[in-house]
Amino acid sequence: MKGFTPEDAAFDRRHLWHPYARMNAAAPPQPVVAAYGVYLELADGRRLVDGMSSWWAAIHGYNHPALNAALTAQMERMSHVMFGGLTHPAAVGLGQRLLRVLPAGLDRIFFCDSGSVAVEVAIKMALQYWQARGETSRTRLVTIRRGYHGDTFAAMSVCDPDTGMHHLFRGVVPQQLFVRAPECGEKLDKAAVAEAEAALAKCGSEIAAVIVEPVVQGAGGMRIYAADYLTRLRELCDRYETLLIFDEIATGFGRTGRMFACEHPAGGVVTPDLMCIGKALGAGYLALAATVTNARVAGTIEAGEPGVFMHGPTYMANPLACAVASANLDLLAGGGWRTQVAAIEAQLRHELEPCRVSKRVRDVRVKGAIGVVEMREAVDVGGLCRRFVERGVWIRPFLNLIYVMPPYIIAEEKLSMLTDAIVEVSGTPHK
Ligand code: PLP
Repeated sequence: MKGFTPEDAAFDRRHLWHPYARMNAAAPPQPVVAAYGVYLELADGRRLVDGMSSWWAAIHGYNHPALNAALTAQMERMSHVMFGGLTHPAAVGLGQRLLRVLPAGLDRIFFCDSGSVAVEVAIKMALQYWQARGETSRTRLVTIRRGYHGDTFAAMSVCDPDTGMHHLFRGVVPQQLFVRAPECGEKLDKAAVAEAEAALAKCGSEIAAVIVEPVVQGAGGMRIYAADYLTRLRELCDRYETLLIFDEIATGFGRTGRMFACEHPAGGVVTPDLMCIGKALGAGYLALAATVTNARVAGTIEAGEPGVFMHGPTYMANPLACAVASANLDLLAGGGWRTQVAAIEAQLRHELEPCRVSKRVRDVRVKGAIGVVEMREAVDVGGLCRRFVERGVWIRPFLNLIYVMPPYIIAEEKLSMLTDAIVEVSGTPHK
C-alpha cells in the first residue's frame, strides 16, 4: 500500500484514538494518503469523491493552488509567534477581510484554534460582560434542544441534553435552560418562540445569553428551521435584555447559501451580540476559529475587573492559519461560491427528493450545500461507510442521518455519484 503499510495500520489501531470511536474498532478507519480537488485518495489507489468536506471545512476542495501558495509564502516568512505582546500582518490581514463579510457591528475579533474553544470564549465573554455590569447572578444560558456546540465543558452544557454527553458528566456540566427547538421546515414555529419567551420571562435575571446554531442545527440532528425564528429571538433578547450568541461554526462562509446563516431572515440580517466562526474559516487546512463581538460587549468587559478579557491560547492567531484563511476569504470574495452553492442546492433537491418514497425514510431536507436524508431507524454506520467506499464516495452518516455537505467546487456528475449512493442505500425503489 502506497504510503501506509500494514504496520502503520496496526499502530493506528493500537495507539491512535479517532473521534467517538473505540481503539481497535471493528471497522478500521480508511487510510487516506492524498487529497486533491474533491477526491480523497486511499492507500490502495482508490479515489473517493468527498461528500463531507472534512466536517464542513474544505469548502474549496483539497490541495487548492491559491491556499497552498498562501501557506507556503507565510511559512517561509514565519510559522508562528506568540500573540501576547506581539502581532503580525497575517492576523491584521485576516481581521480586515473578516470585517468585510461579518454582519455590521461585529468588529471585535478573538482568534482561537477550534470551534469548541470559540464557544467557550463566547460564553466566557457573556459571563464577563455581566460581571462587569455588576449583574453577577446572570450565569446561565438559554438554548434550544437538538443543538451541538462542541465537546469542551461549557460547549457540552449547551448541547442537546439527551443526545449530548450530559448524562456522562452530570454534576460537572453546568445546568443550562433548554427550550424546544423550532420544528423543521419553512414555517415559523410560534410555539417554540413562545417557549423561549416564557423561559426569559421566568428566569431573565439569571440568563447571561441565548445561544443557537442559526437555521441549521448540525451534529445534533441536521435540522433545518425557519430563519424568521432568529428575528424573533433577537426581539426577545432585546426585550429581556440578554445577549444573543450565534454559533455559525458549521453554517458560516456560504454553506447555507448565504455568507452567514443569520442573513436568511425575510426581515433582513439578524445580528447577534456574539458570533462563533470556525471550520470553513480555515478552509480545511489548519485549525482556526474565532469569536466576534461588538464594541458594546468588548467595551463593557474592558471597563470591568480585571480590565481585560481573560483568555489567551498558545496558538492564538497562528500566522499560517491566518494566511490560509485570508486566501480563503479572497476566493470567497470572488463570489463564485454563490453560483456553486445554488447549483448544489438545486441538484440536491432534485436528486434526493425521490428518497421520500422509501418507507425507511422519514424526511429529506436541503439547504444550500447541505443535503440530509433522515431515516426512520438508526443506520449501521460502519456497514454503510463500507458500501459507500465500494461505490467510490466518502459519506459518513450518524444516528439515523445520511447527509452530504460537499466542497463547493464539486462537479455535477460527481455530486450525482453522492446522491445516487444515498438513494440506493435509503431503499428508494428504482424508477
Ligand atoms: N459548533 C458547531 C455548530 C459545530 O458544528 C461544531 C463542530 O462540529 C462545533 C461547534 C465544535 O467545533 P470543533 O470541532 O472545531 O471544536
